[in-house]
Amino acid sequence: MIVVQPSKIVCVGRNYAAHARELGNVVPKQPLLFFKPPSSLIGTGDAIVMPAESRQVEYEAEIGVVMGKRARRVAKDDAMAHVRGFTCANDVTCRDLQKTDGQWGRAKGFDTFCAVGPVVGEGLDWRKLEVIGRLNGEERQRAPASDMIFGIPELIAYISHIMTLEAGDLILTGTPDGVGTIAAGDVVEVEIPGVGILRNPVRGDETG
Ligand code: MG
Repeated sequence: MIVVQPSKIVCVGRNYAAHARELGNVVPKQPLLFFKPPSSLIGTGDAIVMPAESRQVEYEAEIGVVMGKRARRVAKDDAMAHVRGFTCANDVTCRDLQKTDGQWGRAKGFDTFCAVGPVVGEGLDWRKLEVIGRLNGEERQRAPASDMIFGIPELIAYISHIMTLEAGDLILTGTPDGVGTIAAGDVVEVEIPGVGILRNPVRGDETG
């Protein structure tokens, strides 16, 4: 089951300094935004399907923010009043295509490349959240939300000054260091303590 029905999925790149460094990128001076299409959504238990076009598919454990109210040019201090809650998210990425394409629409937009769930956790303080990524049960990523370069209220304020955020819209807030490749047969987990565990098996492309 997919627990959100966003009109758009707005994603933030390089929002943890250690992850920007591990990929050899500079830390951005303002949030770096991109989109994933709603057609990429899957829920917990659904399979991430490896596209035949890529040789390097990677997991990215992230904190997902689910909007509860329309937000248009909101101030940082008012931002959290527009949030419904938080969910675990996996910003699955073809790292090879991300590098060769320049734009990220293809690398991050394949069907099944936005796993979210298992629930939307409400009534939580974003500053106390932590995100954990596991591959086949082994911990690969762990970071507190306080490690974000741009915190969640700042991201909502920034994005809402560009585009209206509608109730139900989803923001992926960036991944910490420790990303790595996945292959058919793997199981990827993203956990946010207090929200739950998002678990997805990986399978090969149906054409290949
Ligand atoms: Mg990401």
